[in-house]
Amino acid sequence: MSLAERFSSYERPTPGGKCVTCALVAGLPKDEAAALIAALDDASISNAAISNILKSEGHHIGETSVRRHRKGICRGGS
Ligand SMILES: [Zn+2]
Repeated sequence: MSLAERFSSYERPTPGGKCVTCALVAGLPKDEAAALIAALDDASISNAAISNILKSEGHHIGETSVRRHRKGICRGGS
Protein backbone atom coordinates (compact mmCIF):
# COMPACT_ATOMS: atom_id res chain seq x y z
CA MET A 1 0.00 0.00 0.00
CA SER A 2 1.32 3.47 -0.86
CA LEU A 3 1.66 6.30 1.62
CA ALA A 4 -0.99 8.20 -0.33
CA GLU A 5 -3.42 5.34 0.15
CA ARG A 6 -2.53 4.97 3.80
CA PHE A 7 -3.03 8.64 4.57
CA SER A 8 -6.24 8.86 2.59
CA SER A 9 -7.71 5.89 4.42
CA TYR A 10 -6.47 6.95 7.87
CA GLU A 11 -9.33 7.34 10.29
CA ARG A 12 -8.73 10.60 12.08
CA PRO A 13 -9.59 10.91 15.74
CA THR A 14 -12.42 13.41 15.88
CA PRO A 15 -12.09 15.83 18.80
CA GLY A 16 -15.51 16.32 20.29
CA GLY A 17 -16.78 13.69 17.90
CA LYS A 18 -18.18 10.32 18.67
CA CYS A 19 -16.28 8.57 21.42
CA VAL A 20 -15.43 4.97 20.52
CA THR A 21 -15.53 3.99 24.18
CA CYS A 22 -19.06 5.41 24.53
CA ALA A 23 -20.02 3.75 21.25
CA LEU A 24 -18.69 0.42 22.50
CA VAL A 25 -20.58 0.70 25.79
CA ALA A 26 -23.75 1.49 23.85
CA GLY A 27 -23.25 -1.47 21.55
CA LEU A 28 -22.40 -4.16 24.09
CA PRO A 29 -24.88 -6.56 25.66
CA LYS A 30 -26.13 -5.19 28.98
CA ASP A 31 -23.96 -7.33 31.28
CA GLU A 32 -20.86 -6.75 29.17
CA ALA A 33 -21.49 -3.00 29.15
CA ALA A 34 -21.91 -3.04 32.93
CA ALA A 35 -18.59 -4.86 33.35
CA LEU A 36 -16.84 -2.33 31.12
CA ILE A 37 -18.40 0.65 32.91
CA ALA A 38 -17.33 -0.83 36.26
CA ALA A 39 -13.77 -1.23 34.94
CA LEU A 40 -13.76 2.35 33.64
CA ASP A 41 -14.86 3.56 37.08
CA ASP A 42 -12.18 1.51 38.82
CA ALA A 43 -9.10 3.70 39.17
CA SER A 44 -6.95 0.66 40.00
CA ILE A 45 -7.35 -0.60 36.41
CA SER A 46 -5.07 1.37 34.09
CA ASN A 47 -6.07 2.79 30.71
CA ALA A 48 -3.57 0.45 29.07
CA ALA A 49 -5.00 -2.58 30.86
CA ILE A 50 -8.54 -1.74 29.76
CA SER A 51 -7.36 -1.15 26.19
CA ASN A 52 -5.48 -4.46 26.16
CA ILE A 53 -8.41 -6.40 27.58
CA LEU A 54 -10.79 -4.83 25.06
CA LYS A 55 -8.40 -5.64 22.23
CA SER A 56 -8.12 -9.24 23.43
CA GLU A 57 -11.89 -9.46 22.90
CA GLY A 58 -11.66 -7.90 19.46
CA HIS A 59 -12.65 -4.34 20.39
CA HIS A 60 -10.03 -1.97 19.04
CA ILE A 61 -10.22 0.77 21.62
CA GLY A 62 -6.92 2.57 22.15
CA GLU A 63 -5.48 3.65 25.46
CA THR A 64 -5.93 7.28 24.41
CA SER A 65 -9.64 6.79 23.84
CA VAL A 66 -10.02 5.15 27.25
CA ARG A 67 -8.15 8.05 28.86
CA ARG A 68 -10.24 10.67 27.07
CA HIS A 69 -13.42 8.88 28.02
CA ARG A 70 -12.38 8.65 31.67
CA LYS A 71 -11.50 12.33 31.77
CA GLY A 72 -14.90 13.17 30.37
CA ILE A 73 -13.49 14.91 27.31
CA CYS A 74 -15.78 12.80 25.15
CA ARG A 75 -18.79 14.18 26.97
CA GLY A 76 -17.88 17.74 26.11
CA GLY A 77 -16.09 18.34 29.40
CA SER A 78 -19.37 18.62 31.28
ZN1 LIG B 1 -16.86 8.32 25.95
